[in-house]
Amino acid sequence: MEPPYRAWLEVDLGALWANYALLSARAKGEVIPVLKAEAYGHGALPLARFLLGRGVRRVAVATLGEARALRRGGVGGEVLLLGSLHPLEAEEALALGLVPTLSTLEAARALAQRARALGLTPRAHLKVDTGMNRVGFPWREALAALRAVEALGVRVEGVYSHLATAGEDPSFVEVQRARFLEVQRALGPGYLYHLENSHGLLLHGGENARVGLALYGLIPGFGLRPVLRLLARPTLVKRLERGARVGYGGEYVARGGEWLATLPVGYADGLPRGAVRGVKGPDGSLLPVAGRISMDQTTVLLPAPVDLGAVFEVVGPDFGPTGLCALAEARGTIPYEVAVHLSRRLPRLYL
Ligand code: PLP
Repeated sequence: MEPPYRAWLEVDLGALWANYALLSARAKGEVIPVLKAEAYGHGALPLARFLLGRGVRRVAVATLGEARALRRGGVGGEVLLLGSLHPLEAEEALALGLVPTLSTLEAARALAQRARALGLTPRAHLKVDTGMNRVGFPWREALAALRAVEALGVRVEGVYSHLATAGEDPSFVEVQRARFLEVQRALGPGYLYHLENSHGLLLHGGENARVGLALYGLIPGFGLRPVLRLLARPTLVKRLERGARVGYGGEYVARGGEWLATLPVGYADGLPRGAVRGVKGPDGSLLPVAGRISMDQTTVLLPAPVDLGAVFEVVGPDFGPTGLCALAEARGTIPYEVAVHLSRRLPRLYL
């Protein structure tokens, strides 16, 4: 049945699963799906349900609010909180049964203290800073940190670090790798050690990984499949008179006789203004955008009129000109940023 929307995001769970399988085959250990920022715009709750329902061991989000939304949505599985725990968040993290990340002893103390008061066992992963200098215990002090945290009664289940230059500077990846290996040697077995992100795993291999971008198929060249399409139907189709000016600033000036479709998606839906060069029409041809993208609308030129049921592909599930990677490049940014700004107001349809 045709979806009853004028604009929507289609999320291909088959492609997502194929990407997960590809990444799992590459990793020697566990692959943890990163579902922060609404699963990079794909929708965290449906993806968490899907992945955990298929036997994935745990998922990761960044914030307490994101984890709370999963719990409220009925997700009962293992949820790793990647954002370093703030002492103020300890109680709710415990109540929600989350596994928070500890980067400070202050947060560890708060977690242990609140757990005692609630009669719960505090669990956590320890973050180790191997060179990114944002969060984490300094890697040279990892063993002392682990001992101090465990002495508080916190059950440390995992130890991890984050790569700063994967996909950019392989030599610094090696520096971080070597440091993390030293941490592993010092701390010994009994913990889940995870270092790789998408580029780390794809380019260098590795054991356990936390993956976002690759899971969503947004890295070309490894057989991954983009998972998401943004589709829209026109709200108006009309013929332009010679000299008619289209949109804000009247930037497009009609030669006369061309057909124009107005699509009900704009920069408030996450389309990067100035970066969308074209939209795929119902027959698959690339149609130029006429004038500027507005907050809620985009105008495109048509070779021939179509009816209002016609479906246009505004963001494509590929690495072509309407793909999310091409949009990001045209915008001078990274696919992550374009993906996370795809608006909540677009209905998501899961296939
Ligand atoms: N791990 C942490 C701590 C992160 O912050 C992120 C995302 O930035 C990831 C893993 C996943 O990274 P990627 O999307 O590059 O795989």
